[in-house]
Amino acid sequence: MGSAFGNYIDGEWMPAAAGRCFESRNPADTAELIGCFADSADEDVARAVAAARAAFPGWKGLPAPKRGEILYRAAELLVRRKEELARDMTREMGKILEETRGDVQEAIDMTYYMAGEGRRQFGQTTPSEMPDKFQMSVRQPVGVAGLITPWNFPMAIPSWKMMPALVLGNTVVIKPATDTPLSVVNLIEVLAEAGVPRGVVNMVTGSGSRVGAPLMSHPDVAVVSFTGSSEVGRQVSAACAPGFKHCHLEMGGKNVIMVMDDARVDLAVEGALWGGFGTTGQRCTAASRVAVHEKVYREFVERLVAGAKALRVGNGLDPRTQMGPCINAGQLETVERYVKTGRDEGAKLLCGGHRLASGDHAKGHFHEPTVFGDCHRDMRVAREEIFGPVVSVIPVRSLEDAIEVGNSVDYGLSASVYTQDINKAFTAMREMYTGLFYVNAPTIGAETHLPFGGTKGTGNGHREACVQALEVFSEWKSIYVDFSGRLQRAQID
Ligand code: NAD
Repeated sequence: MGSAFGNYIDGEWMPAAAGRCFESRNPADTAELIGCFADSADEDVARAVAAARAAFPGWKGLPAPKRGEILYRAAELLVRRKEELARDMTREMGKILEETRGDVQEAIDMTYYMAGEGRRQFGQTTPSEMPDKFQMSVRQPVGVAGLITPWNFPMAIPSWKMMPALVLGNTVVIKPATDTPLSVVNLIEVLAEAGVPRGVVNMVTGSGSRVGAPLMSHPDVAVVSFTGSSEVGRQVSAACAPGFKHCHLEMGGKNVIMVMDDARVDLAVEGALWGGFGTTGQRCTAASRVAVHEKVYREFVERLVAGAKALRVGNGLDPRTQMGPCINAGQLETVERYVKTGRDEGAKLLCGGHRLASGDHAKGHFHEPTVFGDCHRDMRVAREEIFGPVVSVIPVRSLEDAIEVGNSVDYGLSASVYTQDINKAFTAMREMYTGLFYVNAPTIGAETHLPFGGTKGTGNGHREACVQALEVFSEWKSIYVDFSGRLQRAQID
């Protein structure tokens, strides 16, 4: 029996104004109810934004090191509760415990990192062109931040947005993905226990159209940070444009592993399995394409297929499980549609291709790990984000050919190369137009102290994590102090 969870507004848990709620169920066993969550709408968003707006002057006025200390306490609480939070996350979205522990760890790392920014947030001092004049730049918070997050990293991504926003002095209204509100409820509880004052952090649960849409277009929301599909990202961008709101978008990916003829094929296969089927392929950085040099193509494909067939698919709480379910029935159907598309366009189905519907698998949204071989770069399965356990293998003739395949899609998030030749590795690194690049490792596995994000259809020029995340949530102010006691005229006013 799942519990009931309200919105968190102005330091209080409360039901949706209309009194409605929606169910969240375990995708590995849909008989298990995770909880009933507030099914909110405009009115709830308006309340949350008003609370965040009212709390802004006080939070902005608190010295940044003090804000950092609160975040530090939150990080300590996350460490203490890590296992319990990871188990909740596996129940609510299906990925295996090893991965949900990693997700909570990302939140811990980001919270510690941003706690430290309470004592940095460096600006500049530069010499003036004039005598007796001093000048510097400082960061200032933007105001109320509206955060809209996806379900595949239910705690990591909310923390990637909340922690930099908070340490800079912004207040926050977050709308978690409809499939994964529990992990954000858990994160909010931790922040409240750590001492974040009322109104500084607010959470409104519900659908994208009824909560996300009014949040991003609310006139008192000064900055919107969104992670999700490119299709919704485009709507977010359009909603922010009329008011010239700060808008940060992190969207889809179609990432490539390039395997050269001098690669350690064993390593490349291991990387492709983990990169392609980790989180059931539901990562923005998933290695959903592998471009393999024709000289090692046969060996690579044979081993990849053997590895994919051997993966144990099941409930992520079972320590023997290597791949969990798809997030929901809709996503499972999308995967099935793409499998049909791949077959229709002539890709060779080498393994998988079906939903798993017998025994314990019948309880959830499971699909076989699926490999398509002999793919052409123009096929939809080789170009479009599927967001499921489907890997498309594309034969290539050379590194240049692999790079061309890699760069030929609309997205630009992550790429990797397997080679023993340092010249090839550096050439590929330079030529791939992506935000992330890996050598002899899969396309996944970011750390919080390097910027994260993508080019082209993946992002709009901002980055999460590291100091780059501070740019999203701050405005620069340049300050000139003239102590000459007379009018000095700058060359350009
Ligand atoms: P989604 O776009 O369907 O939803 C993302 C969020 O937007 C959810 O909270 C959703 O409720 C909300 N939303 C939906 N419609 C909306 C609307 N009309 N107005 C406002 N908000 C709306 O994406 P998803 O299915 O939750 O996540 C999967 C996608 O996220 C994939 O494309 C994946 O690549 C991407 N993703 C990207 C990154 C990255 O950093 N680049 C990371 C994780 C996931």
